[in-house]
Amino acid sequence: MRITEVEALNLVVPTKVDKKPISLAYDEQLTKIVFDSYKSTLVRITTDDGLTGVGECLAKLTPRAISAIVEDAFRPILIGQDPLDVECIWEMMYASMRHRGHSKGFMIEAMSGVDIALFDLIGKALKLPVYKLLGGCFRNRLDAYASSLRLRDTETIVKEAVAYVEQGFGAIKMKLGRGPEEDIKRVAAVRDAIGYDIQLTVDANCAYDVATAINMGRELEKHQVYWFEEPIPPEDIDGYVRLSSSLDIAIAAGETEFTRYGFRDLIAKRAVDIVQPDICRAGGFSECKKIAAMASAYNMPYAPHTGGESAVGIAASIQLAAAIPNFLTYEYMRSDWSETHANPLRNSLTLEPVETFADGYIEVPDKPGLGIELNEEIVSKYRVNT
Ligand SMILES: [Mg+2]
Repeated sequence: MRITEVEALNLVVPTKVDKKPISLAYDEQLTKIVFDSYKSTLVRITTDDGLTGVGECLAKLTPRAISAIVEDAFRPILIGQDPLDVECIWEMMYASMRHRGHSKGFMIEAMSGVDIALFDLIGKALKLPVYKLLGGCFRNRLDAYASSLRLRDTETIVKEAVAYVEQGFGAIKMKLGRGPEEDIKRVAAVRDAIGYDIQLTVDANCAYDVATAINMGRELEKHQVYWFEEPIPPEDIDGYVRLSSSLDIAIAAGETEFTRYGFRDLIAKRAVDIVQPDICRAGGFSECKKIAAMASAYNMPYAPHTGGESAVGIAASIQLAAAIPNFLTYEYMRSDWSETHANPLRNSLTLEPVETFADGYIEVPDKPGLGIELNEEIVSKYRVNT
């Protein structure tokens, strides 16, 4: 089996967001730029025996940057290769720009989509779900939490929280970032509405500095919040170490991190208690399996980040979550950036829904590869680089 074609598909769905849905610095200037559309770059790889694998690169700002890397830099590496040589291919892609400093960012997001597409291909060729290729199924359903209550008014988020409980969720995440006092008041209101039997986690999307986050963490502990996600910016590893050692509440982070090299410091320094790689950003299956293994050596749980993934990335996240021993809980996205306009790339990009939820769990499908078929109508409707 040899690769004959590699294609990157940029999908963009314009939407309208006036107020930032999550914490964002310079929000007055940036909200309209950052949240103006739902975006994704898919990678489609075809082989000489007619099989096609699909993957996703997280493409938050400029999908064109990522599709250019896939088609201009990686396509020549991939054509003629055997998809089963997936780790060799990963290393070749990484080596192409590593010595020039491109070991994070768009480069690795592009590699992630290629790696996921290769695993989808291998699974289809061998007629096995990807979790089998990764070592087997630790669980055929995933403990899932509702993500997330956004930075909307308190009345709205309390109503949403109660609705999630009624839908069968045993765990809910809420966004912070309106200032420490306001945040804690909102946590108290949500806790009051859902009671203490429901697990509550919070995500500040890097809104605070270390001292503020330590004070907030102590308040959050009083409300029995399970984890405090991205309290501070990702570059401040020493700050994370200080936070983790100062607080009892678990510190979670990693959605902005890339590759085993990026996660090494986060894990080995015990900067966090829970790692949250995104498979469409951190390096695909090949790399996330290594990150999970490294975390397991430190007895550290792995809670996949899925926010912003399309149905393709979600399908990949589910396969990985089934196949790693230290999986903690699955981020089941229940809200979008826009309050009124749901993301069709998550809901309609595949012919069948990728997430089947019942009683607090997401089912793991056992079809070959990622177990999905693209809805070509949706692909052509939102494709921008035809
Ligand atoms: Mg987050």
